Amino acid sequence: MSKRIFQSFLDLIYPPLCLHCNAALGVHYAIFCEHCTQLLHPIAPNERCPYCFSADLNVESEKCCQNCRQKTPSTDRMAAVFDYEGPAASFVKHFKYGGQSYLAKGAGAYLVMQFLELNWPMPDCVIPMPMAPLRLFERGYNQSVLLAEEVALLLNRPMHNILQRCGGDFSQAGLNHQQRLELRSEAFSVKAKVSLYDQTVLLIDDVMTTGSSLRCCAEVLQELCPQHIYALTLCRAL
Ligand SMILES: [Zn+2]
Ligand SMILES: [Zn+2]
Repeated sequence: MSKRIFQSFLDLIYPPLCLHCNAALGVHYAIFCEHCTQLLHPIAPNERCPYCFSADLNVESEKCCQNCRQKTPSTDRMAAVFDYEGPAASFVKHFKYGGQSYLAKGAGAYLVMQFLELNWPMPDCVIPMPMAPLRLFERGYNQSVLLAEEVALLLNRPMHNILQRCGGDFSQAGLNHQQRLELRSEAFSVKAKVSLYDQTVLLIDDVMTTGSSLRCCAEVLQELCPQHIYALTLCRAL
């Protein structure tokens, strides 16, 4: 009870604000105000390329985007919950750069909701995208591990944090398209061997930019002989 009084007291001095527009939150809203909650639209899977989730296709007449027609993808499928814009982008910024790691719980629920919407097979395990050691040291947590933990918990599957990022100790944000594509699989490796033989794996990350990091990780995971690799992220860069 005293904790609740203390919280009310704190709320009076520092009223909780909407993560996106900074409006004071009503009692029924924990993260976003009513207006911003309404702006939060999960992507409808049937409006995207089923392999890379690109919006660059005519869903009426094409089965997949031009990119996916030209090459064999290393993941079975990639998808995201939101486009990286509006409240979803604010959410990721606070979660990733604002130290608000508690946001993983809500994000995990959205990831699982989209996973069910996608109708993908139930994975045997969930694997988070790794983070470069220096970045992990600076941030104190790998947001993809937190997301993967929530997804694993909700799907009642094990999480294996078995990948590591060796090179690529930088944010992809400052890279041009060509440099991103040059991020080769050498940047990732398996740090702990578990058997993924014949398994269906679900890779989890916060933001998919070109999808090249996810593809590199999928290539590295191939040495453990999984049968299928799917990748789901919270946001997809536009
Ligand atoms: Zn708002
Ligand atoms: Zn595609």
